[in-house]
Amino acid sequence: MSNSECSHNCSSCSSSSNCKNKDNQIPDNSKYLKNTIVVMSGKGGVGKSTISVNLAVSLALKGEKVGLLDVDIHGPSIPTMLHLQGEHLMSNGEKLIPVEKAGIKIVSVGLLLENPDDAIVWRGPLKIGAITQFINDVDWGDLDYLIIDAPPGTGDEPLSVFQTLTGKKSAIIVTTPQEVSAADVRKSLNFCKLMNVKVEGIIENMSGFVCPCCKTLTHIFNSGGGEKIAKEFNVPFLGKIPIEPEIGIACDKGEVYAFTNAKSETSKIFSEIVDKIL
Ligand code: ADP
Repeated sequence: MSNSECSHNCSSCSSSSNCKNKDNQIPDNSKYLKNTIVVMSGKGGVGKSTISVNLAVSLALKGEKVGLLDVDIHGPSIPTMLHLQGEHLMSNGEKLIPVEKAGIKIVSVGLLLENPDDAIVWRGPLKIGAITQFINDVDWGDLDYLIIDAPPGTGDEPLSVFQTLTGKKSAIIVTTPQEVSAADVRKSLNFCKLMNVKVEGIIENMSGFVCPCCKTLTHIFNSGGGEKIAKEFNVPFLGKIPIEPEIGIACDKGEVYAFTNAKSETSKIFSEIVDKIL
C-alpha cells in the first residue's frame, strides 16, 4: 500500500491529497472496542468461521464481553452456523443492535438480508462502507474483545477493517496442515506486516483425527505445517485443533461447539488458545 492512499475509507477518493474527509475526524472506536482480533486465512474452507465462533464463545466463557463481526460480505456463514436465519439487525434510531447468542453479540451482513440466499453484488466502495458502519455505527456496548471473521485472502475486507479500527488490533491466521494451505499463510502474514498489525499467532485446524473409540490420533493430512511457518515468521503458534465430528454436528444444529461441549478435550484446546491471547 502506498503512503498516498486515503486512510478514511472514503468511497469518493483514493488518495490523501484528494480526500474530502481530510478535516473530518475518523471516529474513535477504541473507546468501546478494547481489543480487536481479525481471524484470517489464505484459503476458504480451513475452518476460519468455526474458529472465530468458538474463540469468541471461549472468551465469553472466561467472563470477557465479546462481539463477533462477520465481514465476509459475499459469503456470510456466521448466521447459518448459528441458526440465526429469520433474525435481523434492528436499529434504535441511531445505531444497529447486534443479535445475541451464546453470550456474544453478533453482526453480519447476512442479518440484513430479506432472504438468506440473496446474492450480494457490491463493488469495493459499498463493501468498505458497510464494514465501516459495522464497526462505527453498531451499538456494541463496551467490548473487551471483538472477533472479526474475514473472508479468505488479503482483499478489501481485511484492509478496510484494519484501516477503520483505531484501537488495539491484531490478527490470528488459520491454516490446515497441508503445505498448499500453509503456503497461503505466508501471504496473510506478509499482509499483516505491511499493515503493521500484530499477529497473535497461527492456529492449525483439522490437525489429525482422534478416533472416538480407541483415542488414537491419526494424521489424515500432514501435521506441523502451521508450526513450521510460525517459526519461520517468528510469530506464536497458538495450537492444533483436531478434526472433531462434534464440531460439524454442532455447526449443523446451529450450536456453538465450545459452548455445548465445554468440557471436551477440543474445547480445552480452544480455552488454552484463549489463555494465550488473554
Ligand atoms: P471457512 O470459514 O474457513 O470457510 P468453515 O469454518 O466454514 O471454514 O468450516 C468449513 C466446514 O468444516 C464447516 O462445515 C465446519 O463445521 C467444518 N469444520 C471446521 N473445522 C472443523 C474441525 N476441526 N472438525 C470438524 N469439522 C470442522
